[in-house]
Amino acid sequence: MSAVGASGGSPLLAVRSLTKLFGSFAACNAIDLDIQPGEIHALLGENGAGKSTLVKMLFGVLAPTSGQILWKGDPVRIPSPGAARRLGIGMVFQHFSLFEALTVAENIALSLSPGISLSKVAEEASRLSHLYGLPLDPKAHVADLSVGERQRIEIVRALLQNPELIILDEPTSVLTPQEADRLFETLAKLKAEGRSVLYISHRLEEVQRICDRATVLRHGKVTGACDPRQETPASLARMMVGSDVASVTAAGTNTKGDVLLEARHLSVPA
Ligand code: ADP
Ligand code: MG
Repeated sequence: MSAVGASGGSPLLAVRSLTKLFGSFAACNAIDLDIQPGEIHALLGENGAGKSTLVKMLFGVLAPTSGQILWKGDPVRIPSPGAARRLGIGMVFQHFSLFEALTVAENIALSLSPGISLSKVAEEASRLSHLYGLPLDPKAHVADLSVGERQRIEIVRALLQNPELIILDEPTSVLTPQEADRLFETLAKLKAEGRSVLYISHRLEEVQRICDRATVLRHGKVTGACDPRQETPASLARMMVGSDVASVTAAGTNTKGDVLLEARHLSVPA
């Protein structure tokens, strides 16, 4: 067993030798991971490392091929997102699932049990959006909203279920730097409340700024677990991509041939 949960204490969520095969291809290969209560835990890795596959198993979207998930020390099966939410796991996906023609409140209501009035949903969503610094107009139509605003709907929707663990899959890839800063304040607040955050990213500076621990994946395997603040961008990058890509040199010769394409004084009227 690897020394993943080195910070001690009993983890909120533990993953043991979790594997997901697509055919004979192992998108996740015997993954071990511990998430402590009240920590922001980064899941780092290049595109295709298996990050989304792993968290989809934790949120009941994909069934593991083998391995174990433990919630507060007990082995659990998570057959659906509903089951994940009932345990106390919320998730904000990389690709949102919102109905453009509906309002913010209507979209949120769709994810709740039927019978809750729309005005009650709007009221609760407004309360949460103020509390966590996620400004939203419940009456706005999703079609009129920016990507950042759409993400806030997904976050508020996850928070309505009062989760103990919130998973965010590459949340900043669609945000402006200002929106990202705002998101980090929200995450700090969630952490201060004792909730755990599993934060997927491949942006090292972000991870060093906001995360307490990091688990690094490469080709479906854990290559390291660390305190990102104790690492350098170079050491983190090495875990992500392997030492084999330490230096980049241009392949082939550098001699230039004849011009293939040339442009002169191009313009386009407005
Ligand atoms: P990441 O989120 O780290 O970029 P993913 O978990 O999305 O990586 O993907 C890991 C690997 O598994 C990739 O090579 C991807 O092509 C493959 N993969 C993901 N989902 C499927 C699927 N449904 N069927 C087959 N291969 C998949
Ligand atoms: Mg992904």
